[in-house]
Amino acid sequence: MTEEITKDIYRIGVSLPGNPLKELNSYFIRGKDRSLLIDTGFRRPECRKDLQKGLQELCADFDHLDVFATHLHADHSGMVRDFASEDGTIFMSDSDLKRLHIFLDEWSERKYLSRHLREGFPEDKLSYVADNNPAFQMTLEKIDDRFWAVEDGTEIPVGDYRLQVLSVPGHTPGNTMLWLKEQGIMFTSDHILFDITPNITAWTGVEDSLGDYLNSLEKVKDYPVKLSLPGHRKPGDYHERIRQLQRHHERRLAEVTEAVKKRPGMTAYEIAGYMKWKISAGSWDEFPPIQQWFAVGECMAHIDYLLKRGVIRREEGAAGGRPVYK
Ligand SMILES: [Zn+2]
Repeated sequence: MTEEITKDIYRIGVSLPGNPLKELNSYFIRGKDRSLLIDTGFRRPECRKDLQKGLQELCADFDHLDVFATHLHADHSGMVRDFASEDGTIFMSDSDLKRLHIFLDEWSERKYLSRHLREGFPEDKLSYVADNNPAFQMTLEKIDDRFWAVEDGTEIPVGDYRLQVLSVPGHTPGNTMLWLKEQGIMFTSDHILFDITPNITAWTGVEDSLGDYLNSLEKVKDYPVKLSLPGHRKPGDYHERIRQLQRHHERRLAEVTEAVKKRPGMTAYEIAGYMKWKISAGSWDEFPPIQQWFAVGECMAHIDYLLKRGVIRREEGAAGGRPVYK
């Protein structure tokens, strides 16, 4: 369950029951006075048990523990308040922290569903997603005064290590990686995953999430990384993986362009049905609603990218008030 990576740096596997990601990699860095935990898992009993057990195995001092959430997703930030000690600090990027504030304030109004609805996602399926998506149900419940906003370049010393925060918007608007320059170790969060492709969705208030993501890949591609420590699954070749992810999105963009040009006048929901997905379902309509939610989010991110560059165009209100693409 726990694994020593190098001196004073450990991985704790936190299971994510029923989630295709399977497990979150939580990292524990032992310091002299205070230690740091990077990412926590969902706010649910199974995750809490795993993390608690892992930290106990490592003889962590729960009274002197700070927590860094690489981004706002609930499988990373869900339990930050439960594991940071009473006088501890909870680090998160300024941008994701602000977004989390808004999300928690507007939670009951379900504003986070509005873009999907506008782009043709069926209303009944959307209610199902709102009630069942763990990302909404197992998120942290509030923000308290232990939270500390970090920015690109912020340095966090832990024991012999100096972690440098790298801002890599895309996967979330405030996603971060942590860089140990001297050791060549990169905590890649969900910006770079190795045997799964990081989900890129269209975020409310962000013009071009995919463009941001690709810029962030470009920004970090030449770092002399010797060891990657991703948010999920196993590490791999950092530089090769960045090239693969770049090519993946080029292919995806070509696929969306082709779908739009072949059948002009579709909504984003319909376009997503013409993209290839690694899901065994008979047809697009038979996709489980939560998988459809992610698929449409990804499709919209690719649409936004193509719109911004003038490859396709949006026609407002054509399909019962919904935008279509040509
Ligand atoms: Zn994530």
